[in-house]
Amino acid sequence: MKQTFLSIVAVLMMALSLSAQDKVTKAVLELGRTDNRTMEHADYIARNIGGRIVGSHMLNHAEEWVIDQFKSWGLEVIVQEAVEIGVGFDRGPWSGRLLSEDGFTLHFGTPAYTAGTRGPQKGKVYLEPKTQREFDRIKGALKGSWVLLETGATSGLAIDASPAADSTRAAQLAEDKEGSVLFYRQMVDAGVLGFIRPSKLPMQVLYNRAMCFNLTMDSLPKACDILLDEHQFAIIKQKAQNREDFQLEFDIRNHFFRGPMKYHNILGVIRGTQYPDEYVMMGSHLDAYDIATGSTDDGQGVCVTMEAARLLAAAGAKPKRSIMFCIWTGEEYGLLGSKFFVESKMIPWDKISNYFNRDGGPLAATSITVPPAMYDDFVKACEPLFDYNPAIPFKVNKRNGEPAARPTRAGGSDHAYFQMNGMPAISFSESDIFGYDFIYRDIWHTEDDLYDKLIPEYMEHSAVVQAVTAYGLANLNHLLSREGLYKD
Ligand SMILES: [Zn+2]
Repeated sequence: MKQTFLSIVAVLMMALSLSAQDKVTKAVLELGRTDNRTMEHADYIARNIGGRIVGSHMLNHAEEWVIDQFKSWGLEVIVQEAVEIGVGFDRGPWSGRLLSEDGFTLHFGTPAYTAGTRGPQKGKVYLEPKTQREFDRIKGALKGSWVLLETGATSGLAIDASPAADSTRAAQLAEDKEGSVLFYRQMVDAGVLGFIRPSKLPMQVLYNRAMCFNLTMDSLPKACDILLDEHQFAIIKQKAQNREDFQLEFDIRNHFFRGPMKYHNILGVIRGTQYPDEYVMMGSHLDAYDIATGSTDDGQGVCVTMEAARLLAAAGAKPKRSIMFCIWTGEEYGLLGSKFFVESKMIPWDKISNYFNRDGGPLAATSITVPPAMYDDFVKACEPLFDYNPAIPFKVNKRNGEPAARPTRAGGSDHAYFQMNGMPAISFSESDIFGYDFIYRDIWHTEDDLYDKLIPEYMEHSAVVQAVTAYGLANLNHLLSREGLYKD
């Protein structure tokens, strides 16, 4: 009798918790359709904040905004300091003109942590001296001039102006490698305003690691490092070769300031009711290159992650285990935030069910491929998604064949350190299902990474997919199996 009673209670409790789970999932699906705010987050991050590199005040501002949003939705917020840089760098507007009868506006960019001008600066233009003799001949004229470097198309990295690079170039010159070595320090000492290199379009500007973290206020770069539209570069080079009378004027507001500047992982948590110390995690990186607004890389990921959090909070989710929404810092500077998080073991490695990373195009999460041992759990968790939007069907695939080896080198994105250390970090497969012809490579790290490249219906859908899946996994009565996850 007693036993029957107990089992009736157990069945009732199960039914209750099942129906609570259904209610939350239903609410997420409904809110995802009727009150999806992914693009509100995107509007703020892409249009109000914009570029946000490590070293900038804008990245701190973005952090504060994320904290504020998470708190306003009732999440627990953990702020983990992960990156410190001695010298800060902010960017103001930049403009330039060719001053001649047939002058035009210049289309250019400068890598992060390179020198600006002191107000508008104009000067004549010279071609790069290739030999000591050429340098000696031109040296007197270089003060206050711009020098064209015929580097071919660049990858957007800054010229390495560090003392170590100076030594390397000096050694190469001593070895008689004249002709292929840049007379960088010599030209800077001769007083050039800056260097101009051709850039493919769309333009990409990055930074040079040797010149960020080791920089002090006493060792700031002096000469500008300009990447100019390759078509304009060709015209200006021709003019210089013709010895025409013209000047270039640049006004570049790149500001260095004394740090240290500190950056943080912002971790929003919906605390689990039964297994609070176990986690289903998802994340995206907040830092972004600043020639554009980091709208896709990785603004879209941040917005989707944040909206997944908001949807679950708004639906009143009280999952069995905790769900953590990770907004990482310093990804573009070497996965600094996620590496710090993993290595800090703030969450023990065996307590992580899975980490879902989102960093790439603004596409729709349409499937996930998992090891056989995880398959049933994922089917159960993702089941509400199968008929959610018939136009964007969702599928769980069982991985065929042998597992891949655990990666030994970090690359790609913030899932890397999870995988290298043996944790599951399986992400959704994303696709351009309606055929927007979106190609990430075309805009990645370029001046075209702007709000208008975002695809709202894909991003909004993905927020729902991430929320429902994470909630389903968090409600299992076990962590995901790691059997057959990696080869070793
Ligand atoms: Zn990225």
